[in-house]
Amino acid sequence: AKEKGKNNYQFFNREMNEEILKKLVLENQLRKAIEEQQFQIYYQPLLDLRTNRIVSTEALIRWEHPEKGFISPADFIPLAEETGLILPIGEWVLNEACKQTSMWRDQGFDLSISVNLSNRQLMNENIVETIKTALRHHQLDPKHLILEITESMAIINLADTLHKLKQLRDFGVHIALDDFGTGYSSLSYLSMLPITSVKIDKSFIDDINNRMKKEIVKSITNIAHSIGLKVVAEGVEDEQQFTTIRSLGLERVQGYYLSPPLPADEVEEKVLAVKV
Ligand code: C2E
Ligand code: CA
Ligand code: CA
Ligand code: CA
Repeated sequence: AKEKGKNNYQFFNREMNEEILKKLVLENQLRKAIEEQQFQIYYQPLLDLRTNRIVSTEALIRWEHPEKGFISPADFIPLAEETGLILPIGEWVLNEACKQTSMWRDQGFDLSISVNLSNRQLMNENIVETIKTALRHHQLDPKHLILEITESMAIINLADTLHKLKQLRDFGVHIALDDFGTGYSSLSYLSMLPITSVKIDKSFIDDINNRMKKEIVKSITNIAHSIGLKVVAEGVEDEQQFTTIRSLGLERVQGYYLSPPLPADEVEEKVLAVKV
């Protein structure tokens, strides 16, 4: 039994080492990706249901590895957060997205930009200054930047998070609560944060034609409206979902039904150039 226990321990150890090794390899590749600029930003349009116009895009990072091809952000953002590499990566995204949006605005497109802000970024003591600097540098009015944060992140260090978000809000930046409905927090918690909108998670939109889910989305929307928040539906994939959402009085929709995330030039060709 003693022998077996020893073997188990070694086996466990080997598995652990493989896990750690894999991470180290990916971490090194991430560092290299930053140096060699293997990242790209795709932009996914958001439609305003009141005006039927594209009013914003969301910046979504893409990593094209020279050998492995496209690696999903879901597969590398967590490690980037763990290692702190999300700080340089996030700053790059923020600056690129502000630069692109400023260019679009100069071309006469009245667009805002949504940028995802990870937990680790929000914990960084320089984050408020980093964001202000990016806006000034690219001459983008703060009211045209929407930072997307998640519920879980806001809870971790509430006092510190609140302080930073308030500074950003005072500066004029908008704040959206992403993936709403998937976290632990209640709707009353919402009123504590200086947010300006909520993005209802795709999981609710998937079954929006289920009566129960529809009622939930309707209730979230009504409560959000009653405390002055705008409501966005993400992950809208078909006409039926789109029609139902439109009937519930939400402000904005985003999803493959309208457009997938696209490189900037394709957004111009396929979305912005199309006159409605
Ligand atoms: P998210 O912020 O919730 O972004 C929405 C995700 O849903 C994106 O996946 C988008 O491409 C996808 N999506 C949009 N519409 C549809 C639809 O109709 N159907 C389906 N099935 N999917 C749709 P993506 O680009 O793979 O990003 C995954 C997550 O990675 C994001 O989730 C976000 O949490 C994170 N992420 C992406 N870019 C960044 C970034 O620049 N910084 C940070 N911190 N996180 C990022
Ligand atoms: Ca998002
Ligand atoms: Ca989301
Ligand atoms: Ca998400």
